[in-house]
Amino acid sequence: MPRDPRYDILFEPLQIGPVTIKNRFYQVPHCNGLGYARPRSLAAMRGMKAEGGWGAVCTEEVEIHPSSEISPYIEGRLWDQRDIPAHRLMTEAVHQHGSLAGVELVHNGFHAPNRTSRLPPMAPSAMPVSAYDPVHARAMDLTDIKNLRKWYRQAALNAREAGYDIVYVYAGHCMTTLMHFMLPRYNQRSDAYGGSLENRVRLTREILEETKEAVGDQCAIAFRFAVDELLGKDGMTSEGEARDVVGMLAEHPDLWDVNISGWTNDSSTARFEPIEGYQEKYTTFVKSLTSKPVVGVGRFTSPDAMVSQIKRGVLDLIGAARPSIADPFLPNKIAEGRHDEIRECIGCNICVTGDNLCVPIRCTQNPTMGEEWRRKWHPEKIAPKQSDDAVLVVGSGPSGLECALQLANRGYQVTLAEAGTELGGRSTRESRLPGLSSYARVRDYRSNLLQQKSNVEIYLDSKLDEAALLEFGFKHILLATGSRWRRDGTGRQHHAPLPGLELLPVFTPDDLLDGNSPAGEVVIFDDDHYYMGGVLAEKLITEGQKVTLVTPDVKVSAWTEFTLEQEKIQSRLMKLGVRIITSHSVNAVTSDAVELACCYTGRTSTLPADALLLVTARDANDALYHSLKSNPAALAAAGIKTVEVIGDAYAPGSLASAVYYGHLAARCFEGESWDAALFEGERPGLVN
Ligand code: ADP
Ligand code: SF4
Repeated sequence: MPRDPRYDILFEPLQIGPVTIKNRFYQVPHCNGLGYARPRSLAAMRGMKAEGGWGAVCTEEVEIHPSSEISPYIEGRLWDQRDIPAHRLMTEAVHQHGSLAGVELVHNGFHAPNRTSRLPPMAPSAMPVSAYDPVHARAMDLTDIKNLRKWYRQAALNAREAGYDIVYVYAGHCMTTLMHFMLPRYNQRSDAYGGSLENRVRLTREILEETKEAVGDQCAIAFRFAVDELLGKDGMTSEGEARDVVGMLAEHPDLWDVNISGWTNDSSTARFEPIEGYQEKYTTFVKSLTSKPVVGVGRFTSPDAMVSQIKRGVLDLIGAARPSIADPFLPNKIAEGRHDEIRECIGCNICVTGDNLCVPIRCTQNPTMGEEWRRKWHPEKIAPKQSDDAVLVVGSGPSGLECALQLANRGYQVTLAEAGTELGGRSTRESRLPGLSSYARVRDYRSNLLQQKSNVEIYLDSKLDEAALLEFGFKHILLATGSRWRRDGTGRQHHAPLPGLELLPVFTPDDLLDGNSPAGEVVIFDDDHYYMGGVLAEKLITEGQKVTLVTPDVKVSAWTEFTLEQEKIQSRLMKLGVRIITSHSVNAVTSDAVELACCYTGRTSTLPADALLLVTARDANDALYHSLKSNPAALAAAGIKTVEVIGDAYAPGSLASAVYYGHLAARCFEGESWDAALFEGERPGLVN
């Protein structure tokens, strides 16, 4: 289809210093857990973005010197010339598609505890490192400052040699020495680098000038700057000093890359920032103070919103990290008039968990993310069918939808049967919970494409049992029948049912999703630790119930620390008036109370309750699978060759894993081996 002319502006090239970007799609730096440890995987992932049309593709933060390394996190490294070949893999992969490669050079200062190098970290003034390591950063003296400038310059030269077109000076996210110097709360110096704003900006200005002098003839110099920390007068604000900083440095860089800080605000989940373009109110002033191009982010997935940003003079380039992860081919889809095929980011931050857990990136919407090199997966291509056998997929949750879509893409004749009256399984059900409406995008992307396919038949309101499956005559059956929350309190803390459950009204998340809610004083026992317990606490308290959330962990929704949400969730629940009892479990139930036990001392206490909501663990809905598998003679008589169980029905997990296993099953169906690629992991080279 031809491109909609309304979107032509997104495909206009733009001069950035000495280089030209071919369009307005700019993949800003983002972490990925591949970094220096997995350069081939990294290059393949970045190359995929370039293939998908992103005009510029940047690295994650790249450490310039071992005096600032944030191990065990796996970022980029350009410590010296020996790192250049790994970076060349990335720049070559990006250049192959006519895109620009950018590198975000960083010195992390006291944000880096230097757990591997064991060098004392450095900061403008002496202070403990930001992590809880028993390590203090020392105040940089003038020699340290000179050294830092030298390291930055050398890293810029190395970056140019590695083939980068855009070289960053990075003062963002409050994770960087340059930003630390700018902030009075960290910079208490009395020399030329402390005191007045001009002095606090001095180091950044020097490094911008020296980077430009070193590589500015060939490379564009980008300056990444967090214009607001959302800390009011205690931090950098877009109404205060950020304006002066932009004014002072306005024409120094070739490109302004502006955002908000810290990372939890910049990469806010949709639960806390539901609106596309949520950073505009902070960053919009920048363009009025500089003649240089400006790039910014805001989880942009709609071409209309992108055009609006450019036309209204907010941004020149549409920056994206997560939208480019969820759909590396977003620009090409707009270019080809296929914008309804964009796999829109749902703002869940599963991608961020890769970096936070030091493992390769993954994505709920894009199961191929991070698998471009290891499994050779391409987000838009899949091997053709190997036979004319018809396939039945049972269950239209994230797993069934993804599996059906990919099997259909392979050319199989696919039938999708769903017991309920709507598609989407848990993505539909959970999207009705507070803050989770974007989860419906998991369904929408897939159901939209499936409904357009001539080789797909979809049946709603079709709960299939064993007899029906044996009767239908499909050669292959994939069961994506999901999971249900346990009603007996077993999970991580308890391995036997809670005593007394018959005495009190007991609910599970499924009950609430079905519209049956508890009333009165509700105790939530959250032994799941992801989002569900906290979301249901929010739902119930806003519906007027009195809610106490009990968790064995020391924090509410503890695992959401890795999705950058934990503090926001705890803060929201506390502000709403949810009573939070940490380090306790619910051990027993009576007719009007629950018995709590302290996880450290075992001391018990009683909490009055009208109802108990158990958010502990899930059971796979695999009964159908096991009964079919236990009857091979019946399967043979019915002509059924294979029966597989996938997604939550195989092993309950995140939305991301349900989609991933649906995708994997489709790839492996009469195709690739599910485990061979796992042995392809990048191994450390023995070169030096
Ligand atoms: P997953 O996350 O693995 O995709 P979900 O729980 O989201 O799993 O979705 C499972 C879907 O399967 C639900 O929509 C459910 O209605 C459907 N389902 C479960 N059992 C059957 C069945 N026997 N026949 C048809 N559909 C079923
Ligand atoms: Fe978006 Fe979630 Fe994918 Fe991250 S994991 S890119 S937030 S859909």
